Amino acid sequence: MKALVIGGGIIGASVAWRLASERVEVIVLERARLGREASWAAGGLIAPQGEADRPGPFFDLCVKAKNAFDAIAERLTRESGIDPEYDTHGVLYAAFNEEERAELKARGRWQREANAVVEELDPREALRLAPSLSPRVVHALYMPTNRRVENRRLTQAYVNAAMRAGADFREGAAVEALVTSGGRATGVRLNDGARVEGDLVVVAAGAWSGEIRGLEGDGIRFFPVRGQILCFDARPGILGPSLFSARGILVPRRDGRLLAGSVFEEAGFDKSVTLGGMRHVAQAAAELMPSLAEIPFREAWAGLRPATDDLLPVLGPSPTVANVLYASGHFRSGIMLSALTGEIVADLAMGRTPPLDLAPFLPERFRSPVQRQRFKMTALRV
Ligand SMILES: Cc1cc2nc3c(=O)[nH]c(=O)nc-3n(C[C@H](O)[C@H](O)[C@H](O)COP(=O)(O)OP(=O)(O)OC[C@H]3O[C@@H](n4cnc5c(N)ncnc54)[C@H](O)[C@@H]3O)c2cc1C
Repeated sequence: MKALVIGGGIIGASVAWRLASERVEVIVLERARLGREASWAAGGLIAPQGEADRPGPFFDLCVKAKNAFDAIAERLTRESGIDPEYDTHGVLYAAFNEEERAELKARGRWQREANAVVEELDPREALRLAPSLSPRVVHALYMPTNRRVENRRLTQAYVNAAMRAGADFREGAAVEALVTSGGRATGVRLNDGARVEGDLVVVAAGAWSGEIRGLEGDGIRFFPVRGQILCFDARPGILGPSLFSARGILVPRRDGRLLAGSVFEEAGFDKSVTLGGMRHVAQAAAELMPSLAEIPFREAWAGLRPATDDLLPVLGPSPTVANVLYASGHFRSGIMLSALTGEIVADLAMGRTPPLDLAPFLPERFRSPVQRQRFKMTALRV
């Protein structure tokens, strides 16, 4: 079998690794450079309990995804020669007023009912775990099994491991359309007119997945949701757990970089960093960790989360064109979902049953009107 993967972000790279490990011939077509879009811009949290706001299929998917990550982390490091910095410090979710305390109490309750490990901390306990957390904290949840990675290294690790398993990555190869015959995909056409033949096409083009011509019948609207990150040069180890509040996150890197995020904006395909975005992120970060005000600022960037109308990923076969699998629409969770997505696509390609019920994530759900889920857009007042 020869598989063509459209998009060389973390999802395309993970899919390529898993397919190439099954001895499938894999070509990844990346229109620009590998791993330089959302997968480069992300914070790197592998945090099901921080990301999902309620129990249900998405939370179950996230938990499975984190477990899938646990299962491959060592193998991936060995096969790629890259340590993705899969850190074990957990997530500390802080409340700064009574309303937020009530929200965290409710979150703790449903997570315990869903068998997740979660601890309620009073301010003294929270500050012991994270001494740089603001003393204005009134309550916190600690999620010790939630983790983080260095997402740029992780993407490169998937690429390296896939290459070593035989996958071919082509940069500067922009796919314009599917090539079909009798309702089946037989390859793709690039924007320079060249054709590449394959038996299976995997759509992993992130926020741009809706631009591939030939899949219009599937009726899926992919759209970008911009996020902005501020990065500081802190002392390594200044923060153990990643910090969450209702307004932002702080994620430390092993080398001392401290990432502050983020915002949710519909700004088209514009990756600008804006004053409104920086101000929101800076305020949320300083609320979590007031000493950040003294730490040197290093850089800022923005990236585009790939969203769909119901804000759930799109995983599985195209209902209108045979031999096409989607691995797109991972919105705010594509780093966390990367290992599991690779496994699911490999299972589907090899005719095996994936390790979970894919029904809520199948592309065919868009054949009938899908209720549009509103996410909380960040209000950016300058
Ligand atoms: C600020 C921010 C913070 C985030 N934090 C987290 C986090 O903490 N944890 C988490 O799990 N997720 C996080 N995310 C979400 C995560 O980054 C994405 O869900 C994930 O990176 C999506 O991966 P992808 O490979 O689908 O998309 P991308 O990384 O965007 O890759 C898609 C690739 O496809 C290529 N492409 C597009 N069109 C074509 C074409 N026609 N032909 C060929 N190639 C094409 C693009 O050039 C690109 O390289 C964050 C996102 C942002 C923006």
